[in-house]
Amino acid sequence: MLSYQHGYHAGNLADVHKHALLAVMLDYLTRKPKPLFYLETHAGRALYDLQSIEARKTGEAAQGIGRVEGWFAPDHPYARILAAVRADHGPAAYPGSPLIAAYGLRDIDTLHLAERHPAEFAALEGVMRPHRAQVYHRDGFELALALTPPEPRRGLMLIDPSYEIAADYAEMPRFIGQIARKWNVGVIVLWYPILTDGRHLPMLAALEAAHPEALRHELRFPPVREGHRMAGSGHFVINPPYGLAQEAGFLTGQFETAFP
Ligand code: SAM
Repeated sequence: MLSYQHGYHAGNLADVHKHALLAVMLDYLTRKPKPLFYLETHAGRALYDLQSIEARKTGEAAQGIGRVEGWFAPDHPYARILAAVRADHGPAAYPGSPLIAAYGLRDIDTLHLAERHPAEFAALEGVMRPHRAQVYHRDGFELALALTPPEPRRGLMLIDPSYEIAADYAEMPRFIGQIARKWNVGVIVLWYPILTDGRHLPMLAALEAAHPEALRHELRFPPVREGHRMAGSGHFVINPPYGLAQEAGFLTGQFETAFP
């Protein structure tokens, strides 16, 4: 039974990290006039209201995008997408990763989005209807294995689990290994939390041993509440696109200054 709902956390500092890097990667990948394949294993509902009861209850968006938006110049790919989404959906709208992708990609590209939670899926389906995306009420790991290697070969897969079950950590290296073997040119992006108890570390050690060329990027920030176990946000990217390391360095500088 899934209980995680991203509406409580949308726009927090981990989302800023994930969505800024995603927007930059898509901006780079769409410079070539060749079609792209894009897949998300854990899509969420795609559109969030930062004035909602959920967002106001945790205050995570206020401490996240509400605090750091000024870091991004108006022509930064993430800032451009935020502006376009607000123009279409109102000033309190915040895009989840599927909408970041829909606004960052082109008509020649294909989007495949998996979401297993029934209510999140229903919302996702409605939000994505105008965007020519294929949405699946299905396990994202199964979908990813079924659709790789994709046609066209160029593309990106975002794996953004809620880590509600311990198996998400334990099984990730095997899952990513399978995908990387089937699709050796794909950009494979895993988001993970940095936990005070170090529960993510065995997963990372296994991933680094298997994919020594991958880019690992971590940001630290204060816990959202006293006693909260997430002390930061990480990305593990196989086949990182050009420009990702530079953007990661920019974010590191901003976070280290803001949260010394
Ligand atoms: N990627 C989204 C974003 O950045 O806007 C947030 C996704 S949220 C962290 C994780 C989502 O994965 C939740 O909505 C949850 O219901 C869903 N989920 C959990 N396990 C899943 C699975 N095995 N397959 C597909 N979706 C799953």
